[in-house]
Amino acid sequence: MKHPAVPFLDLASAYEESKAGIDAAIARVAASGWYLMGNELAAFEASYAGFCGVRQCVGVAHGLDALHLGLRALGVGKGDEVIVPSNTYIATWLAVSQCGAQVVPVEPDEATCNLDPSRIEASITPRTKVILPVHLYGQPADMDPICDLAHKCGLKVLDDCAQAHAARYKNRPVGSLADLSAWSFYPGKNLGAFGDAGAVTTDDLALSEQVRVLGNYGSRVKYHNEIKGFNSRLDEIQAAVLAAKLVGLLDATDRRRSVAARYLAGMQGLPLILPWIPAFAEPAWHLFVVRHADRNAFQQRLAERGIGTLIHYPVAPHLQPAYAEMGWGRGQFPIAEAMQTEVLSLPIWPGMTDAMIEQVIHAVRACA
Ligand SMILES: *Cc1c(COP(=O)(O)O)cnc(C)c1O
Repeated sequence: MKHPAVPFLDLASAYEESKAGIDAAIARVAASGWYLMGNELAAFEASYAGFCGVRQCVGVAHGLDALHLGLRALGVGKGDEVIVPSNTYIATWLAVSQCGAQVVPVEPDEATCNLDPSRIEASITPRTKVILPVHLYGQPADMDPICDLAHKCGLKVLDDCAQAHAARYKNRPVGSLADLSAWSFYPGKNLGAFGDAGAVTTDDLALSEQVRVLGNYGSRVKYHNEIKGFNSRLDEIQAAVLAAKLVGLLDATDRRRSVAARYLAGMQGLPLILPWIPAFAEPAWHLFVVRHADRNAFQQRLAERGIGTLIHYPVAPHLQPAYAEMGWGRGQFPIAEAMQTEVLSLPIWPGMTDAMIEQVIHAVRACA
């Protein structure tokens, strides 16, 4: 089969839906003659801060920089430790490593796939600076116990929100829950640019200023460099595209939620573990991840029926050659390892038609 009947994701269809607004935004920037650090960035930062219910937003080049500069703004450096989930995209860990700090992985709650608050305290040492939860798959992590523990121990919390645009926790927006929140607007994220883009959100003006200075060559005033900074800019075209797409984000999230509701109703009673939604969570449904004991064969059967799927993620970070220096082998983080062999992400995107949703449910019922 040349084209899968239901692609895992279709970004071109999302563009078609908002084409007029996006084309106008790009044309406006092209004609303005101003391509970096201008009004489009300022306007998007103000809108996105408002969307997250906080006072500050700083645009940066991508999600990894949002995490990295955010950690640096919180004072993380050489010799420090940062608590991270054992199951996440490797960017979460790399941001810690880029600061010269050590990752301290903690296993997730099996039911939610997110950092298990009850396991964190045992991993805190005198060198711990920050707890870094991830709202994996767009499911909000249980932030209240994490923040309570952090603040009791004098630690900061930075959350990786790269998969959780418009998710809510206890009726509060993700992006307003931690000391600092890091965002990616990679094209496939729920709010995606036409290239790389990222941001941090916070209520703390001093922290947001620190990220701004770090991302602008360590400079507040042109050609005055206070610290050895980095170059991490969200350009005007990306900012304008993001502002145009932000208008439709709540509607797009509602459509993801209705796909998820239909999947959850239609996939009961199969040898599959379906996503479990705690009472505190309104997920963003970046991914709809099921677990299957014989995942690879299940994925193959779905592919034969034209259903596009992906694995998030096939190799846990501690088993990546990039972290070989830690000497962590198989058996070190068993929950993360079980996930890497069992998880499978089904198609979930706002433009899916009723027929596509039914086709996925039908195929899963036949193949599970
Ligand atoms: C996408 C992603 C990132 C990195 O974002 P980039 O914009 O690609 O740098 C970080 N963490 C998680 C959980 C992600 O999904």
